[in-house]
Amino acid sequence: MPKTKERPNPVLLPSLCKGCGRCIEACPKDCITMGDQIDQQSGLIPVVIDYDICNGCGLCITACPEPYGLTADGYELEDPARLYGERGPLATKPDAIPAQEIPLPKCEPLVLKGNYAAAVGALLAGCRHVFGYPITPSTEGAELMAKLLPDMNGVFLQAVSEVATVNHMYGCGGAGLPCMTFTSSPGFSLMLEGISYMVGAEVPAVFLNVMRGGPGLGNIAPEQADIKLVCRGLGHGNTHAIVLAPTTPQEMLDLTRLAFELTFKYRNPVVIVADGYLGQMTGRVDLPDHMIKPGLPDWAVWGDHAHRNNLINSIELAEVDLERRNENLNDKYAKMTANEQRANLFRADDAEILILACNTPARMVKGAVEKLRQVGIAAGLFHPVTLWPFPIEKMKSLLGHVKTVLVVEASAGQLEDELRLAFSHAGIEGMTIENLRHMGGVLPQEDEIVRKVIEIQGVES
Ligand code: SF4
Ligand code: SF4
Repeated sequence: MPKTKERPNPVLLPSLCKGCGRCIEACPKDCITMGDQIDQQSGLIPVVIDYDICNGCGLCITACPEPYGLTADGYELEDPARLYGERGPLATKPDAIPAQEIPLPKCEPLVLKGNYAAAVGALLAGCRHVFGYPITPSTEGAELMAKLLPDMNGVFLQAVSEVATVNHMYGCGGAGLPCMTFTSSPGFSLMLEGISYMVGAEVPAVFLNVMRGGPGLGNIAPEQADIKLVCRGLGHGNTHAIVLAPTTPQEMLDLTRLAFELTFKYRNPVVIVADGYLGQMTGRVDLPDHMIKPGLPDWAVWGDHAHRNNLINSIELAEVDLERRNENLNDKYAKMTANEQRANLFRADDAEILILACNTPARMVKGAVEKLRQVGIAAGLFHPVTLWPFPIEKMKSLLGHVKTVLVVEASAGQLEDELRLAFSHAGIEGMTIENLRHMGGVLPQEDEIVRKVIEIQGVES
């Protein structure tokens, strides 16, 4: 076959050839052979083309799986050193671009279900990148993001799995962009390895876990099944993240906004735990008076000249280096513990029976406290807004008048374990702790909380 100008010789870029040999099989003229020289850039052995017998048929180009291994038009790799200068410390660090507050006009309250409220909170916090894999009872949040983000210069990506989701978030957060996912208990479990990587590499991201019944697939009803997981088990190694526990659609919005602030403040993932009812529950939601236009942190792997020397990873092969990294993480955890403990109280200032609850059970407790107060029983609600760090300082300030702490939860004692651990670390001994628990999607009811408190009062008096 005569060679013409329209059928140019294939151009081989040796550093992008992985030596798979597909072009050798494809060539009808047998003019491609396996080379015998290791390419210095790739560390692989590229093929060699004998252009004297090549007829320019192009079959090798079609066969090559590498986008630029073999081309027809002579693609050239740009030399990064020529584009950006020699690698090495830059004279100046990149400037951090601060986030900006943009005032919002006053508007009427919205009536939203919890999952939607969290999505709106994320948008107002500047989140334009959401990754996820649908799972009940969290799906509405991702669904709303998939509808809204394309019109907001944003991205919603339905990943192939939760494992893919968390790694998309690793990349997005590493680029310094606010990102989040909506998931539920079994999906969150799948993300733990990636979360550990993100904690180790200090990458910000927000995880909303709308908890459901477990273990295993369990069911799609509300359970507080993951408190232990989010407070004590965020993947392998020395991992912690601030854990926020809303109780209303308004708090779903407010705490999602807060989560984005905290995740960048500490360069650490933040987890929000809701429950199946809270995700689906509709309520009045007031919007804030401003929204956030995100900036760009100086540590971001942004891909331009200024950020060229930034590197984000969680690996430290030298033992002393890894120990130092863990010590730095511990310093950060200590700052979170000192600065970010949050709790909401309801009639707790003089409470003799302090009822500890979060998420939907806290709403049941609030109603029970009203009823108990009407019959002269000094009960109060302690809602830990941060499950980690547990707001032990606030709790301590109440213990002078508290005779009993009653833990009301939709799990087999996971919240109570957090309380007991916090007491233990704070050196608090001798406090009477009672509990009211349900599992499997059964929630503690207002009247049974009232009965439980009256029963405790009877024993005490
Ligand atoms: S262009 Fe055709 S003849 Fe030339 S190396 Fe490729 S397959 Fe062989
Ligand atoms: S098909 Fe492409 S990658 Fe494979 S050996 Fe040939 S040029 Fe290299």
